[in-house]
Amino acid sequence: MRNDMSLQDDKLHEECGVCGAWFPPASAETEQEGVGPERPLMGRLLYYGLLALQHRGQESAGIATNGAAPDAGASTSAVPEVKASSALNFTLEKGMGLVSEVFSAAKLEVLDGNIGIGHTRYSTAGNSILVNAQPLTGHSKQGPLSVVHNGNLTNADIIRELLEESGNLFRTESDSEVILNLVARSAVKKGVAEAVWDATQAIQGSFALIVMTSDTMIGARDRNGIRPLCIGTLEDGYLLASESCALDAVGAEFLRDVAPGEIVVINPEGLHSLRGSERTRTQTCSFEYIYFARPDSVVDGKSVYEMRRKSGKLLAREAPVTADFVAAVPDSGIPAAIGFSEESGIPYGIALIKNRYAGRSFIQPSTDDRRRTVRVKLNPLTGAVRGKRVVLIDDSIVRGTTMHMLIARLREVGAAEVHVRIASPPVAYPCYFGIDTPYREELISSHRDEERVRRHIEADSLAFLSGEGLAAALGGQDAFCTGCFAGVYPVGAPIGSPYRSLNGLEAGHNGIQ
Ligand code: SF4
Repeated sequence: MRNDMSLQDDKLHEECGVCGAWFPPASAETEQEGVGPERPLMGRLLYYGLLALQHRGQESAGIATNGAAPDAGASTSAVPEVKASSALNFTLEKGMGLVSEVFSAAKLEVLDGNIGIGHTRYSTAGNSILVNAQPLTGHSKQGPLSVVHNGNLTNADIIRELLEESGNLFRTESDSEVILNLVARSAVKKGVAEAVWDATQAIQGSFALIVMTSDTMIGARDRNGIRPLCIGTLEDGYLLASESCALDAVGAEFLRDVAPGEIVVINPEGLHSLRGSERTRTQTCSFEYIYFARPDSVVDGKSVYEMRRKSGKLLAREAPVTADFVAAVPDSGIPAAIGFSEESGIPYGIALIKNRYAGRSFIQPSTDDRRRTVRVKLNPLTGAVRGKRVVLIDDSIVRGTTMHMLIARLREVGAAEVHVRIASPPVAYPCYFGIDTPYREELISSHRDEERVRRHIEADSLAFLSGEGLAAALGGQDAFCTGCFAGVYPVGAPIGSPYRSLNGLEAGHNGIQ
């Protein structure tokens, strides 16, 4: 379902953040002696990890742990997903809203165990309702299973249909339940690690996922590595997270990224890796670097902040302009604006003040609401702007509505000129890898050239970073998905998807299937 909130925020939206932690179980001796395991309380640890990943999804949050809740056998959640038939119970807590709204101190206390996984969600696949919130938890003959997933499967409908025909019941609309069912089915014969491997060979699209059993945590990344996933260490435990900023938040040390197509299995024997997909080819989402990931994260060995700063430098070289100061659309445009200023020698300044408490509104937006939302969120610094020629830098333009309003506001308070520079190429195609993108006709650059976009947003001048500039900023041309700029994707569009006809994608992708 297209989300109303996306209309208010003129940006692409990441769909989810995932994190998980595994610590060695307490030995029989320490349990007998009543000495607790030397590890952080799982609920609290994952809470801080999820807070650091809040930017990746604000609709719902959840944590599942492998320890039984005090009233063993029942979930703490309103969703009765844990129906353990053995002595092994999981504890699950999830709800709608921000991480800080979903979890109270009391709820975190009962989320105990030596393994836990967590999720923040911003959804395009499936409605924004509690039943679709993650972690999703189920039961196989080998015991309980829980899964969290960031991404979007392009063949989920076909697999769901096949599973339904063979008797599987689905409780949610989420792609992640397809993965859960695939794993649960083959875990019986092969064990969970092999079952995850089989599932990852069957599903297509983008996924960074974490699976929890009663004694094992498994992380997997799709064969193109479209969505990020990294590994950290903390004391004698391991963490998995969408971004390294979540490891920093809990004091963990970054170990490495999960490689595209790799499965990491963490259990009492240590950390093991399953690799071997012959069809692996790295195509990390370039928008992770441009906008989605936090600037303090390092994704696949690259600093997000440095990439953005370099984009700004390259943009200054490609599209110089005479102006009094360079300003960013906060916060996403700041690193590129700093780079632009450094390269051009034009001083960096502040033109817009961001209201950090405006948050997201659940009001059905009218045009007036949207205008007010922008006014509340970003207000010009009149004294700094009046009579000045401003270079306004942002990371991207999607619909162009926000940029149009910002330029109008800067002119209202007396800006002499507003020159817009965008630190990525024009977004002309939608994304179907778990990103909330408008339909193609709503993308301002899908049907307008640069001059027509300039006239539409009423800027004095406009320039986007070139495709070559983006490749240079990323440090390599081929290892990144640039589908929303170029219309060429690492995986074909979902069969029956409107994207196929809208993009002319029937034969247009560079199909690694
Ligand atoms: S099309 Fe590719 S680059 Fe664009 S948002 Fe989607 S995954 Fe990222």
